[in-house]
Amino acid sequence: MDYGHPLQLGVFLTPTAERPHAAVELAVRAEELGLDLVTLQDHPYQPRFHETWTLLSWIAGRTERIGLAPSVMNTPMRLPAVLARSAASLDLLSGGRLTLALGAGHFWDAMEAMGVPRLTPGESVDALAEAVEVVRGVWDAAAPGALTYRGTHHRVAGAERGPAPAHDIPLWVGGGKRRMLDLVGRLADGWVVAGGAAGVAALRDGNALVDVAAASAGRDPREVRRVLNVSGTLADAGSGFLDGPPERWVADLLPLVVDDGVGTVVLATDDVATLERFAREVAPALRAAVAAERERRGTPPAPTRSTAARAARRRGIAYDDVPPALAATAVEPGDARYAAVRSTYLRGGAPGLVLRPGTAAEVAEALRFARAQDVPLSLRSAGHGVSGRSTNDGGIVLDVSRLNGVEVLDEATRLVRVGPGARWGEVAAALQPLGWAISSGDYGGVGVGGLATTGGIGFLGRAHGLTIDHVRAVELVLADGTHVRTSEEEHPDLFWAVRGAGFNFGVATAFELQAAEVGDVGIAQLVFDASDTAELLTRWGAAVEAAPRELTSFLTMGAPRGGQVLAQTTTVVDSADPDTILRMLQPFAQVGPLVGQSVQVAPYAAVVAPPDSGPTSDGEPVTRSGLLEHLTPQFAADAERLVRSGHTFFFQVRAMGGVTADVAPDATAFAHRSANFSVSAFGASRARLDGVWDGLHHHFSGLYPSFETDPRPERLTDAYPPATLARLRELKRRYDPDNVFRDNTNIAP
Ligand SMILES: Cc1cc2nc3c(=O)[nH]c(=O)nc-3n(C[C@H](O)[C@H](O)[C@H](O)COP(=O)(O)OP(=O)(O)OC[C@H]3O[C@@H](n4cnc5c(N)ncnc54)[C@H](O)[C@@H]3O)c2cc1C
Repeated sequence: MDYGHPLQLGVFLTPTAERPHAAVELAVRAEELGLDLVTLQDHPYQPRFHETWTLLSWIAGRTERIGLAPSVMNTPMRLPAVLARSAASLDLLSGGRLTLALGAGHFWDAMEAMGVPRLTPGESVDALAEAVEVVRGVWDAAAPGALTYRGTHHRVAGAERGPAPAHDIPLWVGGGKRRMLDLVGRLADGWVVAGGAAGVAALRDGNALVDVAAASAGRDPREVRRVLNVSGTLADAGSGFLDGPPERWVADLLPLVVDDGVGTVVLATDDVATLERFAREVAPALRAAVAAERERRGTPPAPTRSTAARAARRRGIAYDDVPPALAATAVEPGDARYAAVRSTYLRGGAPGLVLRPGTAAEVAEALRFARAQDVPLSLRSAGHGVSGRSTNDGGIVLDVSRLNGVEVLDEATRLVRVGPGARWGEVAAALQPLGWAISSGDYGGVGVGGLATTGGIGFLGRAHGLTIDHVRAVELVLADGTHVRTSEEEHPDLFWAVRGAGFNFGVATAFELQAAEVGDVGIAQLVFDASDTAELLTRWGAAVEAAPRELTSFLTMGAPRGGQVLAQTTTVVDSADPDTILRMLQPFAQVGPLVGQSVQVAPYAAVVAPPDSGPTSDGEPVTRSGLLEHLTPQFAADAERLVRSGHTFFFQVRAMGGVTADVAPDATAFAHRSANFSVSAFGASRARLDGVWDGLHHHFSGLYPSFETDPRPERLTDAYPPATLARLRELKRRYDPDNVFRDNTNIAP
């Protein structure tokens, strides 16, 4: 039977330490020759061999594409929970190239000499089965709680799970005895069959046993890839199995694939000439012969995911219809990568499918597919949405994080093309060497896609305006799948809408932004005793309004502790001159009792350096937003009541105004240009935060959608004044009449 696996051709190398780089050079050559896999035998008691993980890691570092597999790993000599971490690490470092083939151990005298307790053959198979479960348990970073496992041979008492590997590492098992084949059928993703004529016979007998065991465990036997190690002589003349010219090899190997189900053929050789001949003369001919025979027979392809992974699929999504270009990078609930993509920075989720297109055409394809399913759709760029629900429960996430390039289009006009998946810290780092910056936010982990479709209130706001004020063009995939470029000249109506309410109109696939010349900036962190909260707020607000527009300041307060409130301000001055910086900061040092201060001159990129990775949340953010014209004593008194209520753990006032206010209210869909401040609060309880915040509402002229999570419909009219909202609704009716894009501050058509 042909199980329909894509044919894999590899090489099995001797990990000799006597010529330390010999196996590495052969592996590099195998990659150059287009082979799929390099495998290494593992004998940790053998002093003439390298230790396998070390050698495999070195090979991974020297290669870019080829798959890597210890085959088979001596499992009794390795603690399974640690083995899982070694494998996950190498998979992450190599970009998802690892296959883990495990064995039950063989040379017990040598192993015992190294201190490994001897097991009977039956015990060693049981121990291997337990090890497989432990390894998978550690990899399953999405599972709740620590891993506890009580086996006869292996015990794990609350091990932390993770890291999740870069991909679902195929777990193969090598061996030929009946008990081992039963284990393979029940648990493994692949069966490694020993080489030679005996191996071929073992394959034929063993396949049936593996299939029965798989079926009785509720699996599809096609889930188990059959891996055959072979050796032979490539010569112009020969006399037997795999002994002769390439045509003879093809004739011998073809039936093993299409009749006996071999999906992977691994040639054991350390001879570079044999390797080259196999790759150049056997491999292409064998691939072509297999493809032709499969075509002739109509062989169905093997399932891409295990029965267990398929069981974790959610209703309402036609998983088998995911377009092939997207299927390779898509993540499903049963996948190892799921833990890393299910939730976002502030919001827990359990989507049924995360599509990760890598081009605008794939975005259109993903959108078409998503629209055909009857489940929620979320858009995601870098997953820092507050109002934006870039994850969901049981739906589809269209994640454009792979569209993350930052490219200079024109040095003279400082025009830059940026992908929605880039994070602002990465954008700042890319532009810093040019002496440029784009006004963004205060945090480098935030994505371009979410922020540049809404506003962008950041540390350069008074000096350079909102992020959307620097957008010169946006490319979008619209609800009907068309890909359009919007600018002042092309689809100007959409271009207007995209700058302030873009998330309602399409999936942004690229932005053209005009950077500003920004050298080093002054950054001051001043901490005040804010026991007299209202007084401090009023004085700080007055200092902001009186400050030159080069200066932008954010003030943050937490909940009171022991009656005391501290206010932390971060102030950025767009100047590298220390005297100018200090002169502009001077009024701020006097707004209240100063308890801590630091001032430095650094590049803007240092202010918004991207974090290595963001925390992902299980929760649901509770936030409110308001835009304020002036920070009056009346507002400050009400704000003090909010802070002292204890119902917000993060209260922030950001300076706006300056260049932001130079733009006409109707120039973009962000209309609230006269606000001098953006106010926001985060709480733990919706009801408690709203209860206090609603009392502040009359102070505000509007709100900033990105910081608002109140679901009440009147928030929409706070976000968009009547004329803006009417225009947005009309455009929504035209461009998204079915309301496909509704995961964020939705303007119903
Ligand atoms: C720690 C933190 C700091 C922040 N600081 C600032 C700040 O200083 N200034 C500021 O203005 N905002 C700030 N924000 C708010 C932030 O700008 C928004 O939450 C923004 O939506 C995040 O963008 P993202 O791409 O990371 O989000 P995602 O979670 O990926 O997306 C959020 C929403 O944006 C929309 N969206 C995402 N990608 C696209 C796309 N390609 N096309 C169309 N719509 C899309 C969708 O509606 C989606 O639900 C901050 C948020 C956090 C969590």
